Amino acid sequence: MMFDKLIGNEEAKARLGRMAASGRIPNALLFAGPEGVGKKEFAFEFARLLMCRAGGCGTCSICSRIGKVEIPKPEKGEDFDRVFLSDHPDVGLVVPYKRNLRVGSIRALEREANFRPFESERRLFVIDDAEKMNDSASNALLKTLEEPPATTDIIVISARPDSLLQTIRSRCQMIRFVPVEARSIETFLRSSGTYSAEDAALASRAARGSVAKALSLDLEWFRQMRGLLIDVIRSAILTGNIATMLQISEQVNDPRNKDLFEESVDILQSLIRDTLAFQKGSSDLANPDLADHFREFADAVETSTIERWNNEIEDMRLNLFVNINRKVAIDGLFARMAA
Ligand SMILES: [Zn+2]
Repeated sequence: MMFDKLIGNEEAKARLGRMAASGRIPNALLFAGPEGVGKKEFAFEFARLLMCRAGGCGTCSICSRIGKVEIPKPEKGEDFDRVFLSDHPDVGLVVPYKRNLRVGSIRALEREANFRPFESERRLFVIDDAEKMNDSASNALLKTLEEPPATTDIIVISARPDSLLQTIRSRCQMIRFVPVEARSIETFLRSSGTYSAEDAALASRAARGSVAKALSLDLEWFRQMRGLLIDVIRSAILTGNIATMLQISEQVNDPRNKDLFEESVDILQSLIRDTLAFQKGSSDLANPDLADHFREFADAVETSTIERWNNEIEDMRLNLFVNINRKVAIDGLFARMAA
């Protein structure tokens, strides 16, 4: 049945379902919402709903070819000046090359959008990470949206819809996506058969609403890093052992963990917030399995101190945007925590 493989976002499912059933499909939709909740999968599922003769059965040749798209490894930008068609020739995807959604890819979309459908009654194109369009790409898209070919639907996907041109947004009907509830992710992970109950619980809470993140999270790394960061808080509050903190700073900055730096900062912040929550008597913890630690910390530190740390982390995040050295930033944070 339709949407049954997708997790959460029931309201979006219901709206898209009604839209498909009514047959009144807007030429342009904007799927707006956080990373990793499955917006692209929803877009392909919507295409199945529109194109499958059984209303999105999920098993026929049409359904199974929609969404099968091969994207090459990024080598040179020109390779991305095109629409990547799925195995179904009326469904295609435009994606950024590195940090840019190139004007060439939007122009290619415009050409494809003007072709008559090959197999279906209509064609459907998905633009992923639309906030990565520069001005010329945005203007090219705007031009396409202003004169929409009757048989083509465009789905614009963005985690930062506010950074799109207002004129683009106003031509799209917006479908809002929200973070997926941890409980739904946990149920999904358990039903996959590859997660123990304990791992499913841990990954679903660490995912903060993103199914993609739950699936890609390296739990071994996560457990280890979380343990180290608990030691950081312990050192700051209980032992005052700065040497330990600086050692852990090295590990957070290990080049092998380069892509996990922000994730490490997220973990530290979740531990600090849990300590704060514990002090305020809340049982809504991101890391309930570590409650014993939070109890110990909560008794030993002032709420104002924990709140200050939380603010320090927010400040550090802003500074990281402007390319401050990560090692300097995290050393500084730990030093201020120990002060
Ligand atoms: Zn089907």
